[in-house]
Amino acid sequence: MAEQPLPGGYEGLYAPGLDLIVLDSRLTDVQRRCVLAHEISHARHHDAGCRCDRWTERRADIEAAAMLISPLEFAYAEAVYEGNTLGMARELNVLPWAIEAFRERLHDNPSLIVQ
Ligand SMILES: [Zn+2]
Repeated sequence: MAEQPLPGGYEGLYAPGLDLIVLDSRLTDVQRRCVLAHEISHARHHDAGCRCDRWTERRADIEAAAMLISPLEFAYAEAVYEGNTLGMARELNVLPWAIEAFRERLHDNPSLIVQ
């Protein structure tokens, strides 16, 4: 893994040829955690680059959410913040897209929430 300033608004990318994850060096801690988890998913699947197709990006977001958020923490935050995405994201130290992705994951597999 490497960190350097990335051009064009990229927060992170995975280079399959080099098997290397590069993160933008200006990210906040929360961004860094989330972007790294997203890129790890790309690395696992040897996805070509990033932002290439929607299905791949969705899979990376959902897998990242699974790495970052436990179902129990999610259920707690959802109850406390009454489903408010921004409040939940702040509580769980993730970016709002990770909350949305976790919801999608629950939608695909509702048994996850049963503890
Ligand atoms: Zn991506």
